[in-house]
Amino acid sequence: MSSLLEVSGVSVSFDGFKAINNLTFQIGEAEMRAVIGPNGAGKTTFMDIVTGKTRPDEGRVLWGDKSQSLLSMSESQIAQAGVGRKFQRPTVFEDQTVAENLMLALKKKRSPLAVLGFRASRADHTRVAELADEIGLSAALDRKSGELSHGQKQWLEIGMLLAQEPKLLLVDEPAAGMTPAEREHTTDILVEAAKTRAVVVVEHDMEFVRRLNCKVTVLHEGSVLAEGSIDHVTSDEAVIEVYLGR
Ligand code: ADP
Repeated sequence: MSSLLEVSGVSVSFDGFKAINNLTFQIGEAEMRAVIGPNGAGKTTFMDIVTGKTRPDEGRVLWGDKSQSLLSMSESQIAQAGVGRKFQRPTVFEDQTVAENLMLALKKKRSPLAVLGFRASRADHTRVAELADEIGLSAALDRKSGELSHGQKQWLEIGMLLAQEPKLLLVDEPAAGMTPAEREHTTDILVEAAKTRAVVVVEHDMEFVRRLNCKVTVLHEGSVLAEGSIDHVTSDEAVIEVYLGR
């Protein structure tokens, strides 16, 4: 599998404290990866580096065919290049319907300025319907987003990110605060999404990670402590000691 993102030898310090320490990470196109680790392991800082929010002190962050360095791009250029990020708290427009939110995301993809003169084509309406189907909200297209449940808002936000056709989607604790049924649906959405793009899921809930059924990267003190299947990493003694044994 060709790699989409290659992070190597990356370190970043905050006031002399190494939050990321010689980190190496690779993900291929259409790959799902779970990133786990105790609080303070560097998960958020890792995502901040990939999205360009935080600049590392050293190391390389290569993208695509590797001729591109994400380190030479601005945050918006990185987003344009195809890195999407979902934060924990959904940022849907509550007074707009599900369909309107998805359409707004499509407009945003064209270009931020296109929002002004955007007229939705038939293809755009079809795409909105497809996206709603992918996130399981077809029956809620005309509902105001503010009336949706917590889980549904999260799915809508994922749909809005998918509308922008990222090549890599970073998702921060997508199952937080969800019911078991909602978690299951979230797993389905992410697994489906990872068939055509890379998805990195940062998650605390081990059962959720297990259901994603993907390679797992365990971070600890800003470095990779273990990597492999969920069974491999959860039987690793170093992982048990720093993470599971707490
Ligand atoms: P995680 O997301 O795994 O909980 P973080 O990436 O948020 O870990 O944090 C890693 C370490 O870096 C923590 O010790 C945190 O306190 C520290 N850190 C993160 N961001 C900053 C910052 N802007 N200034 C100072 N310290 C920071």
